[in-house]
Amino acid sequence: SGAAEAAALLRHLCRKVRASGPLTVAEYMREALTNPAQGYYTRRGGIGDTDSGDFITSPEISQVFGELIGIWYVSEWMAMGKPNTFQLVELGPGRGTLTEDILRVFNQLTSVLSKCDVSVHLVEVSPKLSEIQAQMLTGGKVQPNPEDESAYMKGVSKTGIPIFWYRDIQDVPAGYSFYLAHEFFDALPIHKFQRTEKGWREVLVDTDPEVPDQLRFVLSPSRTPASENFIQPEETRDHVEVCPEAGVIVQRLACRIEKDGGAALVADYGHDGTRTDTFRGFRNHKLHNVLSAPGTADLTADVDFSYLRKMTQERTTTLGPIKQREFLKNMGIDLRLQVLLQNSRDTATREQLLRSYDMLMNPEKMGDCFNFFAMLPHHRLVHADKKDKPESKSPLPPVAGFNELLLK
Ligand code: SAH
Repeated sequence: SGAAEAAALLRHLCRKVRASGPLTVAEYMREALTNPAQGYYTRRGGIGDTDSGDFITSPEISQVFGELIGIWYVSEWMAMGKPNTFQLVELGPGRGTLTEDILRVFNQLTSVLSKCDVSVHLVEVSPKLSEIQAQMLTGGKVQPNPEDESAYMKGVSKTGIPIFWYRDIQDVPAGYSFYLAHEFFDALPIHKFQRTEKGWREVLVDTDPEVPDQLRFVLSPSRTPASENFIQPEETRDHVEVCPEAGVIVQRLACRIEKDGGAALVADYGHDGTRTDTFRGFRNHKLHNVLSAPGTADLTADVDFSYLRKMTQERTTTLGPIKQREFLKNMGIDLRLQVLLQNSRDTATREQLLRSYDMLMNPEKMGDCFNFFAMLPHHRLVHADKKDKPESKSPLPPVAGFNELLLK
């Protein structure tokens, strides 16, 4: 049962502390979320509504969310001259709903995409969630451990598009790719640091000497490798969270986009380098003490978009972060809502459409705290040889979402 597994993970972490000293918050978070036997995501991850889940995400609230993201990729594909093939690469696909909604849009636009060879590549560590994704996207018809691929599983979508699963972005084949990370970076392990009179100290997770099998936060008595490496000299905050793993992944995406072309869209709750203590847990849609019953709650920290931007090392252009409600408005959510309302007869459906719109767009709900951020090749926004003959070039189309959508 969940309780027994949670107790086993807690005992394992306490043993680890007794054997080799306090853990970094990053080590703790990695174990709690993705420990191969008892991690929260490994076991299932409670994405779902009030009845079944621990937290709910935008694609699970409304199909419109994924549809508009699908349109974003098609619009970028057109703006980039309709290359004859692309990979859609999603990091942390959850239940697979977002990809499902995107593939429905691709299928509706077959007249536009007909000559384009599309494949889907999902980066997912959780065996349980990859099963749920396979069920959602292929009806469960998948082949485990295909010999000819770097993927651990492959299948074909209901609309005939090949789908591959990987544990790591590095296993995804090179090539022109559109990347997607929705509520992915917030689940990656962070380090936490506190400014003290003696300088920066890392926050660590220790056992409580007074209470057996209970964890507590302590400050490192001296500097740690992470406090030496991850704090910027110009830092002004007193408490800082850094997610080096997010930095490494963004670096990889930036290198790939620079070399092979494409774009990345990152959506998450986060800030632009201003917030401090955002590490928190969710269980049954309620805040949950991050140190109690590890493995039974979702742990998350706001994404620092200023850090992601820095980690692109200017290999790509970046856009955003902009608020979810602005992005979706620019993508035409209002018009889409009107069409769906007109097409639905019964009041229950109409009320559901309005409720989910409010959830995504209301500044008090998800409208303001969620942000969109994009990485694009430099030539997408500035002609490579603009110094030579700027007048002979047609203007580059604006990037949808960050500007109003213009479909030609
Ligand atoms: N994008 C989905 C799910 C978000 S939950 C949605 O918006 O609904 C986070 C997802 O990332 C889960 O699928 C989880 O299993 C996956 N994940 C967490 N850590 C990961 C890692 N290190 N590598 C790959 N996937 C990871």
